[in-house]
Amino acid sequence: MADFTVSKNVAAMHGSSTMIAAQMASEMRAKGIDVIDLSVGEPDFDTPDFIKALAVEGLNAGLTKYTPASGLAQFRKSIVDFYGKEFGAVLSPHEVAASCGGKQALFNAACTLLNPGDEVLIPKPYWVTFPEIVHFCQATPKYIETASNDFVLTAEMVEAAITDKTKLLIVNSPNNPTGRVIPKDELIRIIELCASRGVYVITDECYLFFAYPPAEPFSSAVLPNEVRDHVCVAGSFSKTFAMTGWRIGYTIANAEWTKAMVKLQSHSATHPTSFVQYACAKALDNIDATKAAVDSMTAEYERRRDWLIPELNKVKGFKCGMPEGAFYAFVDVRGLLGEKYASSAAVAEAMLKEAHIVVTDGEGFGADGFLRISYATSLENLNRAVNAMKELFGTN
Ligand code: PLP
Repeated sequence: MADFTVSKNVAAMHGSSTMIAAQMASEMRAKGIDVIDLSVGEPDFDTPDFIKALAVEGLNAGLTKYTPASGLAQFRKSIVDFYGKEFGAVLSPHEVAASCGGKQALFNAACTLLNPGDEVLIPKPYWVTFPEIVHFCQATPKYIETASNDFVLTAEMVEAAITDKTKLLIVNSPNNPTGRVIPKDELIRIIELCASRGVYVITDECYLFFAYPPAEPFSSAVLPNEVRDHVCVAGSFSKTFAMTGWRIGYTIANAEWTKAMVKLQSHSATHPTSFVQYACAKALDNIDATKAAVDSMTAEYERRRDWLIPELNKVKGFKCGMPEGAFYAFVDVRGLLGEKYASSAAVAEAMLKEAHIVVTDGEGFGADGFLRISYATSLENLNRAVNAMKELFGTN
């Protein structure tokens, strides 16, 4: 075998901890065990039919060739129009670029901004990819603890964490893994503070539309230009339209930042799939159909949430606040820790081995003592899983 030494940039990254649970589940399934998977980070719904039909339409129209690296002009215009109609944002197509999912949007944004030694503020708990992108850029993650405010970031927390080396803050609201939503006014205060201190902000709006009343979707794309100059919105179709496999997302950032991201992308993925861009552009143009599809998924997640959280709180040792968005319950299991279970990882392992339920240990999100339970699965599965949890741990 060749003497292969991985690059320092990649050696500094860790593997995805959320994949470990999925891997264990698939091994058990291969042995014929009926596993209930509550570790999934993707909608259980299929992509709406009208979007699938639009992709076929795009293919038949001959959209099978390269597009500009920034995406089809039609795609960028549809994003601009949609954000205008939906949120009242005033954007220019030069501020929009298509990407292969929200993940590449985040990567493009961070890699075009960060230099070795820069500090990046990341609120804890965090989505697993945030620190790894920062490591890849040879920058330094600086974590902000949010537990004192029930996992909701505040401007005061950010203010206390900013140093001379702070270049960037990464926020994600609605949040994976906590399901918490930063109130609109607080998020604006956070971003205004950062902009006034010369700190950039990447707002990961991948769960934007999954905010349950009274929480509401708020996009940083509506901020005035002098603030938005410091902001990159990382957007995605993956969760909103149940399109995880299509790999399509976008960035909204100032024209110079966008140009740099397009340059980077032009030497890597080039652009997301041509007819997928077409389908997404046409879907956004049909705002009624789009909103109806999203609203029905949001209502179903809300119904599951409303059933699940009170049930989880009946399980002995579980404590779970009401998530305001996304599709995750973030359960405090510290009440179970002691002689029998040394850590939340041990709790997750017992759930898998003894009750055949897959959940994600909080440690990978920087929150030992917690479990992330996804409700992107049917109420029937949730019901079976909760019964098995009650049997395993007992009830209050
Ligand atoms: N951001 C967050 C917080 C996520 O949870 C995910 C996916 O799980 C993504 C971004 C990336 O999604 P995608 O690359 O599929 O758009």
